Amino acid sequence: MKYNISVICGDGIGPECMASAVRILEKTGERFSHSFDFEYLDAGGIAIDKYGKPLPEETLRKAKCADSVLLGAVGGPKWEGIPGIRPEQALLGLRKGLNLYANLRPAFLFESLKDASPLKPEKLPNGLDIMIVRELCGGIYFGESGTGEDFAYDTEKYSVFEIERILKTGEKIAKSRGAKKLTVVDKANVLESSRLWRKVAKETVKDPELEFLYVDNAAMQLIMNPTSFNTIVTSNMFGDILSDEASQLTGSIGMLPSASLGDGNFGMYEPVHGSAPDIAGMNKANPIASILSAAMMLQYSFELFEESRSIFDAVEKTLEDGFATADIMTEGKTLCTTDEMTEKIREYI
Ligand code: NAD
Repeated sequence: MKYNISVICGDGIGPECMASAVRILEKTGERFSHSFDFEYLDAGGIAIDKYGKPLPEETLRKAKCADSVLLGAVGGPKWEGIPGIRPEQALLGLRKGLNLYANLRPAFLFESLKDASPLKPEKLPNGLDIMIVRELCGGIYFGESGTGEDFAYDTEKYSVFEIERILKTGEKIAKSRGAKKLTVVDKANVLESSRLWRKVAKETVKDPELEFLYVDNAAMQLIMNPTSFNTIVTSNMFGDILSDEASQLTGSIGMLPSASLGDGNFGMYEPVHGSAPDIAGMNKANPIASILSAAMMLQYSFELFEESRSIFDAVEKTLEDGFATADIMTEGKTLCTTDEMTEKIREYI
């Protein structure tokens, strides 16, 4: 099969991590007889330099025609302070323009990186594997807001349509992971919008069983009892905060991929980390978040499950062999550059 992928490298470590992901995809294509065609597009700071705007129309137009999008990271000090223009506007523009309303943020801890988690090993007897499904296009970040002399407000507003579609995504993901329950996180004891989420959830989700948790309790349980979660579905703001909390349980931000999905199989895949200007161009960045983002793309957009699994397994074996980039380096491991880490993973595909 042939797949067309829009590749947006972006800024800072974006291009180097993307180069790693592309190398891994090429090897996976070779092994499983698929052809991945990459079309490189500009967004973020580099697009500001070239076109005076973070998201050129051509980038969005071409991305819409692709089978999926891979994104590196955007932003950096070079583009701070330009009035009305920020590289990060490209992210919102892409999510909105591509109608990507479901953000999948896995928090996965590889056995060999257990030491990197801030949690005690006894809290993670079988590692950690949580998927947070966050609503991405609605809620308080897009609600009405305003300020007066001595007040300010932002509104959390969700329609039944918006809640239903994200819950259906949550249900689908939970089922695909063999979850026994889907946890809906809200604040239904005080928020009307959360009470609507609960009502719609009960009407929409048939399988697996539903569990409702208040967000404050969920934040505590992620630390106290993290293995009690499988799949969480929640609103934009709660998902933003909880997915960052969960990501920290896994050690390094350099390990975490994400997917943004809409209707159908189209998706945009990107590491959770930013452009890391402090290490850009030094061949030091951990490429695994970008490589696992490519693996998520194979799974969710192309339904190439074995191929996706082979990337995941290759990462796991490389880590088990004791190879580590600086961010996940601990005593007894072998320090690798970005390129070396990529090559080790490539060899295992
Ligand atoms: P960051 O994620 O870029 O970096 C935070 C810390 O983590 C830094 O010390 C960095 O060196 C380290 N780090 C990040 N990724 C790493 C990797 N793959 N390997 C090893 N270490 C890694 O966050 P920041 O410093 O707050 O932001 C830097 C820039 O990135 C800002 O302009 C910010 O707006 C932007 N940003 C972009 C995105 C995105 O494109 N999706 C996300 C977050 C931040």
